[in-house]
Amino acid sequence: QCPWGAPSTTSISCSLADVMSEQLAKELQLEEENAAFPEVVAAAEGPFITGENIDTSSDLMLAQMLQMEFDREYDAQLRREEKKINGDSKVSISFENYRKVHPYDSDSSEDEVDWQDTRHDPYRADKPTTTPRRGFIGKGKDITTKHDEVVCGRKNTARMENFAPEFQVGDGIGMDLKLSNQVFNALKQHAYSEERRSARLHEKKEHSTAEKAVDPKTRLLLYKMVNSGMLETITGCISTGKESVVFHAYGGKSATEGKVIPPECAIKVFKTTLNEFKNRDKYIKDDYRFKDRFSKLNPRKIIRMWAEKEMHNLTRMQNAGIPCPQVVILKKHILVMSFIGQDQVPAPKLKDVTLSNEDMKKAYYQILNMMQQLYRECNLVHADLSEYNMLWHDGKVWLIDVSQSVEPTHPHGLEFLFRDCRNVSQFFQKGGVAEALNERELFNAVSGLNITAENEVDFQAEIEALEKMNEDHVQNHGKKLSTFSSDGDPPIYDE
Ligand code: ADP
Ligand code: MN
Repeated sequence: QCPWGAPSTTSISCSLADVMSEQLAKELQLEEENAAFPEVVAAAEGPFITGENIDTSSDLMLAQMLQMEFDREYDAQLRREEKKINGDSKVSISFENYRKVHPYDSDSSEDEVDWQDTRHDPYRADKPTTTPRRGFIGKGKDITTKHDEVVCGRKNTARMENFAPEFQVGDGIGMDLKLSNQVFNALKQHAYSEERRSARLHEKKEHSTAEKAVDPKTRLLLYKMVNSGMLETITGCISTGKESVVFHAYGGKSATEGKVIPPECAIKVFKTTLNEFKNRDKYIKDDYRFKDRFSKLNPRKIIRMWAEKEMHNLTRMQNAGIPCPQVVILKKHILVMSFIGQDQVPAPKLKDVTLSNEDMKKAYYQILNMMQQLYRECNLVHADLSEYNMLWHDGKVWLIDVSQSVEPTHPHGLEFLFRDCRNVSQFFQKGGVAEALNERELFNAVSGLNITAENEVDFQAEIEALEKMNEDHVQNHGKKLSTFSSDGDPPIYDE
């Protein structure tokens, strides 16, 4: 006997006419249905594909945020226990190795270099020095803590609701979500593989959504800043530019003692979509400070360099006493600085404010002075100076947006300076400041050079000749001219 058994072959006999009429009836019904609900079929296809993606990303966010909260609580408890055990004893035991480390911290792979120590400008030295990361590598499996998981979990879930509106946290509150660390570790694991999978899957999609303000990774970093208490709240977006998005935030307390977080902060997020930065290559590629690194970096890191550059340039300006935002912290492509303005209202750009004749004149002389300071003391050319990047606050002009600023010896540095001068002198001449120098006079006044050409074309030709000369000098004498000190004597053109 065949072990599979024999198929029961009960043959149903029917006439051809029956079959035909049955088929006909089906066809007719289908036709009718299609006519009645054509849109249902179409609609069912649309969101099916995108819906999944959205859910994935928000679940991922939810999981990561909760995990961070748990880790934070865990570490706090750990600290309490550490303190209790050690008491006043002379020999103390450290629990440091048991601290939880969030995946984003522990993942200290190639692209995890932050330049948090603003006291040092790494480009002054030959080799940038990195600040060691604060995170610790630890395995907390063996330690038991006494936290009340129910209360803690619920509290954490509720806390997320206070966060900025653009954070999708799901309906954790409605579900009375209380999740243990074990569950979360599993969830985290899942989120991880899911993230990798979806990253591959949606790479294209991510790149095309340039207008989307912040990607999940950025959101997570922002969340971390709030989570750590450094920022109180991120209130909202003040500007969406081509290359950056700027948020307003209320400052919290500093993680490192002694450093004061300004009451209001501006968070500049450099966009991680790449195509927009292509046209800025020329600023950074030829900047000797970045030259060595440029070739070795992937595009994501290059974008981080913009944030880094802005930070160092702001620090130089701050040291020279030029009114500008003060750097609070740099995290990857996110730069936190003091907010110029008050009560969430950013100071107006010079182009948007109507100044009295007196203030206009005052502003002009202040800018002339600042441009000189920038050039001589900071060894920088703003390179995007115009009424768009100057804010009027507290009766004076504040300079912002210096990520593209370069040193005067940059192969195009003097051209950039000339363009800056043209913007400034045109703005003030139109604004009725009779004393305003024309662009060529301003250029000489700022740079200390003495280009005598009477017309613009000749003037520019001389500028380019100087740049060429300088380039040749650099070619012959190595990349960095030893005669240049970044804190002082500007260029070598008079050689
Ligand atoms: P972008 O490269 O997009 O022009 P900016 O640095 O100029 O970037 O910032 C864009 C806008 O955000 C500015 O025009 C200004 O209105 C606002 N902004 C930037 N930084 C600050 C700050 N520190 N305080 C207040 N407003 C700021
Ligand atoms: Mn700007």
